[in-house]
Amino acid sequence: MEKTPIEIQKLFYRPICNEEEIDRIFNIQNAQDYLLKLRADTIVDHMRLFRVYRNKAIEQGDKWSLEKSFESDHFVNFKNRLPPDLKQNCEDNITCGNIFSNEVNGFIFPTKFGIITTISDSMRYFIEFMNLGLLNFTEEVPQHVRLNALRIAIRVMLQTEALDFKMDPRGIIPKVIQKEMYHTYPFQAQFLAGHEYAHFLLGHLDNTKIEQKHLFKAMFKSQEDYRKIGAYTVSQKHEFEADLASITLPNYTDVEKQFVYEYALLWFAYLAIYEAIEDYLVPPIGYQTHPSAISRYQNLLDKVPKYKGFNVKYYTKELPDIVDKYRTFFIEDIGYHCDSYEMYGSAYLDVPNTKWRGKELIDRVDYY
Ligand SMILES: [Zn+2]
Repeated sequence: MEKTPIEIQKLFYRPICNEEEIDRIFNIQNAQDYLLKLRADTIVDHMRLFRVYRNKAIEQGDKWSLEKSFESDHFVNFKNRLPPDLKQNCEDNITCGNIFSNEVNGFIFPTKFGIITTISDSMRYFIEFMNLGLLNFTEEVPQHVRLNALRIAIRVMLQTEALDFKMDPRGIIPKVIQKEMYHTYPFQAQFLAGHEYAHFLLGHLDNTKIEQKHLFKAMFKSQEDYRKIGAYTVSQKHEFEADLASITLPNYTDVEKQFVYEYALLWFAYLAIYEAIEDYLVPPIGYQTHPSAISRYQNLLDKVPKYKGFNVKYYTKELPDIVDKYRTFFIEDIGYHCDSYEMYGSAYLDVPNTKWRGKELIDRVDYY
């Protein structure tokens, strides 16, 4: 019997979705289904993501669910800290979840099934490797390993680094450092999720102000823009307000608030380094809706009341100096070695057979 086209189409999704998920993708009933299809399409359309997800699915066998494999703690934790009426308002109106994208700001967009907000799943790798490059750790990290960590982080955002970190961790990172480099991400993701919810709660979303944005923006001539999303666009003033509200709206304990605030500053510092590279590769044309990372950093620094223990010198002088130094460094580095940023594959913390790298793992021999 000949297969109908829809059955053939379903075959593409089978390696990365369970049967129930495939049925949902082909019969979208709500915003969760819509989001699931967006995730699945992006993976099916990108061989490099497809390979990673096919492996994850094989590893989990019958238990596999594409939907459940995406983290959502940061959205949930933010909502749980809101006053009950605001939490309910978010839950009633907004569907949330991670996707894959190189849009650093997250998306919030209307669909016929309701509003969806997303942030990119690859952000965690960007943040972790930026941390490894720039933070102080209980054990020493050699300077060349730090630089390579920063290059890996930047390649993640440029979509040229394979996202197979679980199979190939790019080197040997001491356990204690691993723990420290992962520490900031949950707070930063929570801040980003909160920023998107804040746009909704503060009444910034206007159905007449929709702008087409790409899920993946091409950074090199060898890449192509991928998939347009009609996303809400808001003024720069509202962007600043949403950043602040993401920290002030929830009922955080003092300690939580300090983590969210200081790691948000750190996030904008990292983003400022990446933005310099992005602007160098794809010079911005016309009016930019999102203010620069540096101005968002300054906005938070100016507006959030200082508390005992806040390291004024670090955030007003030392960190901005580090950002300046690396913006200059990486524009030069990418100018001279553009190929090594554009080439798709894996970058490493060190050369083979060293303390930070170990033995060279061979793709399709040592791992699949
Ligand atoms: Zn925004």
